[in-house]
Amino acid sequence: MRYSLLADAYQKIEATTKRLEMTDHLVDLLKKTPPEIIDKVVYLTQGKLYPDFTGIEIGVAEKLAMRAVAKATGRSEKAIHEELGKTGDLGGTTQKFLKSKLQVQLSHELLTVEMVFDTLDKMAKSTGAGSMEQKISYLAGLLANASPKEAKYIVRTVTGALRLGIADMTVLDALAIAYGGGKEAREPLERAYNISSDLGRVAKTVVEKGLESVKKFQVSIGEPVRPMLAERLGSPEEILEKLGGKCVAEFKYDGERIQAHKKGNKVILFSRRLENITEQYPDAAELFRKYTKAKDAIIEAEVVAINSDTGEMKPFQELMHRRRKYGIQKAIEDYPVSLFIFDALYADEKDLTLKPYPIRHKALERIIQPSEHVRVAENLIVKNLEELERFFEKAVENGCEGLICKSINPDSVYQAGARGWLWIKYKRDYKSEMTDTIDLVVVGAFHGRGKRGGTYGALLLAAYNPEEDTFETVTKCGTGFTDKDLAKLPKMMKKHETLHKSSRVNSTLEADVWFEPKVVIEVIGAEITLSPIHTCAMDAIRKGSGLAIRFPRFTGNFRLDKAAEDATNTKEIARMYKGQLKKVIEQ
Ligand code: ATP
Repeated sequence: MRYSLLADAYQKIEATTKRLEMTDHLVDLLKKTPPEIIDKVVYLTQGKLYPDFTGIEIGVAEKLAMRAVAKATGRSEKAIHEELGKTGDLGGTTQKFLKSKLQVQLSHELLTVEMVFDTLDKMAKSTGAGSMEQKISYLAGLLANASPKEAKYIVRTVTGALRLGIADMTVLDALAIAYGGGKEAREPLERAYNISSDLGRVAKTVVEKGLESVKKFQVSIGEPVRPMLAERLGSPEEILEKLGGKCVAEFKYDGERIQAHKKGNKVILFSRRLENITEQYPDAAELFRKYTKAKDAIIEAEVVAINSDTGEMKPFQELMHRRRKYGIQKAIEDYPVSLFIFDALYADEKDLTLKPYPIRHKALERIIQPSEHVRVAENLIVKNLEELERFFEKAVENGCEGLICKSINPDSVYQAGARGWLWIKYKRDYKSEMTDTIDLVVVGAFHGRGKRGGTYGALLLAAYNPEEDTFETVTKCGTGFTDKDLAKLPKMMKKHETLHKSSRVNSTLEADVWFEPKVVIEVIGAEITLSPIHTCAMDAIRKGSGLAIRFPRFTGNFRLDKAAEDATNTKEIARMYKGQLKKVIEQ
């Protein structure tokens, strides 16, 4: 197929902003394309050589391309630079200069799509020493044989500036019309695309094997499935009603979404945007490899930064430290992660995407072997508001953003690539930010693990209730302690240790060690939240709920000057909660 056919089509597409006209031009082009290269033509029209998830990019910097353009047009780089300064379009500049190059080559080879594709492919894959020169010479070679119009589009393609504005959905429409028998074919084509993320493969299948084959498309290990997304509703009443009165509520973890593809011992991880992020998370890949019992599987999880000493979850921002190319090993140690698995799209050699959620979840539970760093997302079947609210509070208190409520009806399939009403997120409208430090009483402790073996992993802290003369728990704090603090804590607390919980301590949590309420420490947190677990100011804000401090950190101050009864009291914390409520604007 001659490349000029592609260039002509690009020119027409470029000339219109109307989607329908664009689709018509694309239909014409696809009809003229021989079946064996339909995939290549589809990728090329989107300025690519392969689907995004392969990570293969032509990626030639403009500066480099300019050298090839200089070679091909016989102009100086300076002249090209000047012209580029006026238009900002290296493709257009190339076209202009080639046109005015008087002595047209005598030995002009006709460019074919195959030749262009293969040369761009070689450019994309050439790496290492000398690759720059090699790329320039490949490009110059192509340009030497190109007409001015062809050269314009080749240059735009290699520099990532093709931008014809053809969205994935326009390609699917065009394929439906050209080869699927009409617009109705768009739906099965779209599904095939959503589960493979590969427009070229979808095109090739419909052209070579027909629409029936497209309808039989299955998820395939190595090809990321476009993620199912959640709708949002503000009130739990609406959520329950929308989901038919009952649903499964799951913690909405505050991390990064990962789709893991496992084939035997090999694991590939894809991000929400379908990039291959395996190298960024070798530890997560290892966890999937080790704790997925199925030989082959596609599963989805949220990867969350954790405090390895306490096992507590850290806010999403902590994961940013993992977005790096170098020093991964150190980042793994400094910012360890846990996996919370929430869906199974392929297991036991079966595509599960068209199965209802309860069946996918069963498969998930069967193939995941829970361990310290790998767990199935915490979930609960809820049938009324009360249960939903309680579970929501528990999620928030555990460092989650809220809940994702999921349909468990027979039609609750995995809607790849779609934001639908089968998943509804429930986040908070208000946040109670903490701006001030508070002084809390150490009433218990939890044994440390790993580096913290032999000392405490976290302290159980309480506020004082002067009316009852009791200490009501408000948080578990394991952050902010220096090694020195940690070393001295057990000694310091030893004399206050009791065999049982003190009668003045009001706690639903079971600490490993209990103390007489004596020692006061200063703490700052991120916010105050409602809590079904902590007893601080129970019922003051809402019946059946207490208050908790999220992401607490020891400031380094042992308040030796304060008696336990001088600690921040429970009423103050309730007042802080009310006073600091702020509407959550993001989302
Ligand atoms: P979007 O809705 O566009 O994905 P977002 O990326 O900000 O927006 P949210 O809408 O806030 O994310 O929530 C959806 C995301 O929540 C999922 O993409 C996933 O990463 C995350 N998540 C955490 N826990 C779960 C869970 N149990 N089930 C599904 N998704 C979860």
